[in-house]
Amino acid sequence: MKISSNSPCPCKSGKKYKKCCKPYHDGDYPKTALLLMRSRFSAYAIGLSNYIIKTTYKTHENFKNPNWKSEIDFFSNNTKFLGLKILDVKNGEQESFVSFKATLLSKSNNDISFSENSRFLKEKDTWFYERGKILKNK
Ligand SMILES: [Zn+2]
Repeated sequence: MKISSNSPCPCKSGKKYKKCCKPYHDGDYPKTALLLMRSRFSAYAIGLSNYIIKTTYKTHENFKNPNWKSEIDFFSNNTKFLGLKILDVKNGEQESFVSFKATLLSKSNNDISFSENSRFLKEKDTWFYERGKILKNK
């Protein structure tokens, strides 16, 4: 998906992309797990697979998957990212949790929405996505 700086941010914050997730995609570090979570959602929507990989914690099993990047690209290119709703946030110093509902449609318009509780870890002042637990599939 192509997006301009003045477009609404794909994380559905209601802000312009340039005032929301773009600075993180350009290299700034999100100060909170929630900002990282939102910027990862919009990175999926735009198709920034390198950002997804860069912000994933080093222990994630996908680092052993040689097709990871192309799988992210495929998901991004074949999914409509319709909505993001934050359900709960638990902030800690080194560990935070964000629960959210992502409203998604496949290319053939099947509802592939899901809710997840994501765990984030901070290392050297940088937040990373560590893993997610699916809350329910709808
Ligand atoms: Zn955003």
